[in-house]
Amino acid sequence: MSDTPKEPTAATSPAAASASAVTTSNNAIGDMASWAPQTQLVHAGTMRSQFCETSEALFLTQGYVYDNAQQAEERFKSEEGGFIYSRYANPTVAMFEERMRVFEGAQAARGTASGMAAVTAAVLCGLKTGDHVVSARALFGSCRYVVEDLCPRFGISSTMVHGPDLDAWKAAITPNTKVVFFETPSNPTLDLVDIEAVSKLAHAVGATVIVDNVFATPMLQRPMALGADVVVYSATKHIDGQGRCLGGIVLGSKAYVDDHLHPFLKHTGPSLSPFNAWVMLKGLETLSVRVNAQCASAAVLADQLAAHGEIARVLYCGREDHPQAALAKKQMSGGGQIIAFELKGGKAAAFAFLNALQIIKISNNLGDTKSLITHPATTTHSRLKADVREELGISDGLLRLSVGLEASEDLFADMDQALNAAAQA
Ligand SMILES: *Cc1c(COP(=O)(O)O)cnc(C)c1O
Repeated sequence: MSDTPKEPTAATSPAAASASAVTTSNNAIGDMASWAPQTQLVHAGTMRSQFCETSEALFLTQGYVYDNAQQAEERFKSEEGGFIYSRYANPTVAMFEERMRVFEGAQAARGTASGMAAVTAAVLCGLKTGDHVVSARALFGSCRYVVEDLCPRFGISSTMVHGPDLDAWKAAITPNTKVVFFETPSNPTLDLVDIEAVSKLAHAVGATVIVDNVFATPMLQRPMALGADVVVYSATKHIDGQGRCLGGIVLGSKAYVDDHLHPFLKHTGPSLSPFNAWVMLKGLETLSVRVNAQCASAAVLADQLAAHGEIARVLYCGREDHPQAALAKKQMSGGGQIIAFELKGGKAAAFAFLNALQIIKISNNLGDTKSLITHPATTTHSRLKADVREELGISDGLLRLSVGLEASEDLFADMDQALNAAAQA
């Protein structure tokens, strides 16, 4: 594709492109916006081909053919909607983007090859040398790399703050700050950032607020309704939710997507595979059922773990003893499915416990139907220096549990026997 049209163009924007590429779109946008979330997750964005299939079609195609030379010319001039090349837009990817867009209540959305592709594009697409980024310091490891290592190499300065500390945000945000970026709850210690308050501080200097909403999922937290400008997801987590493939998505205003994000993604190329988009699209159909069941189970398990003699402390957003319980209630509609807890015996006890587990699997992933547990200090956060880990509260006895869809009785029995085994070791 050497001869690319200037962007943004109607022909390369998925929403516009979809109109002529399929015979029927699902419903008027106004209808979809008024549907309950569960209904949106099943129906929003569906486009049917001439065969009127029940399940969304998987369009495994790189490109598209034109009826004639004039049509190709028109499409490149954007005078006619339609697909050009799957690095720009693809019907299956467009269905996934549209379902997420409606569900999140955003103006526009673009899928990406992974969560990190989404974060990198969202953060960098509007920045230039000389700009300043402020982020929470408790970030997913690769997100920290983007802010702390990558940005400065291109002359973009960055400041990291303790997410729960509003005064620290106030001090760090300057007139030159262009992007404010954080995840809430954070990984793995479940620190919260006050989305509304930090958005106000950022907007006072005209900065774009980008929230990594992976831990809360779009089921439990709506950053845009609280003032955020852009929301990013690793769809690899709860959106697929069944451990099959990588993907990501960025949601924001039409102006942000058309002017910054779309050209960045289109020309740098971290496109979402149509196959992965199809898996994610089907994953969305069960998202509310899965997340609700996982949250209910996690709430029970968090209380059981907190009452266990071998455990020093439990961090769970749905518990009254969470350090920011009031903020959790204000901006989240559920406690989530991640529990962090610390064993009394440090690393030795944590490893003995992990090795004695039978149902719960040791893995650094999360948001899966299978319960997964990780020891952050030696895996996901092992790149950080010991003093930084300490500052973030990631002790050697800390474990992060992602609660799956197994019966919570079985999960507790598994942890109870493993805790007893660890105590004897
Ligand atoms: C997993 C994760 C990412 C990165 O997503 P990938 O799909 O693995 O690239 C970013 N942010 C958070 C909070 C995550 O948990």
